[in-house]
Amino acid sequence: MNSGVAIYPGSFDPITKGHTNIIERGLELFEHLIVAVAVNSSKKTIFSVEERLEQLRDMFADNDRVIVDSFTDCLLVDYAKQRKAHAILRGLRTVSDYEYEFQMAHANRHLAPDIDTIFMMTESKYSHLSSTLIKEIVRYGGACHEMLDPQIEQHLKNKMK
Ligand code: ADP
Repeated sequence: MNSGVAIYPGSFDPITKGHTNIIERGLELFEHLIVAVAVNSSKKTIFSVEERLEQLRDMFADNDRVIVDSFTDCLLVDYAKQRKAHAILRGLRTVSDYEYEFQMAHANRHLAPDIDTIFMMTESKYSHLSSTLIKEIVRYGGACHEMLDPQIEQHLKNKMK
């Protein structure tokens, strides 16, 4: 199966191999994936929206089935409708992810019954991986090549100098 457009929203601060794994697998299901940076002014991020968009665009420059975008100050389902997406893709790692995602998926379903949320269970090797953890590892000089694209690692190191 390979049809339609789905949105994969997130902070991507920065994008990790856990995220890219979900994107690669999402492309098995959907013709196009919109990787959408959610701009949330109350969330403190290490990279600006523009930096994250640039990183994502560089990473997927060779794949015209991946569209990189951002959305601000609107409901995710309204953004999805605007982009003519019929699904929202999310990754699940832990029970705490599940509780949050369960609530969000129900709220979104209530707001837009024609848009489905599709969950993908993390690859087990990425189950412990988060953008927050990655930032700590890089900050203290830990090895992260199995978790992070080398370019992103460099961006992170430069930022932390
Ligand atoms: P958010 O702030 O919306 O949680 P993130 O960038 O942290 O944004 O995550 C975006 C999506 O990717 C979420 O659905 C999250 O659960 C998923 N995700 C993050 N890290 C991983 C991982 N290691 N494996 C699978 N899914 C992940």
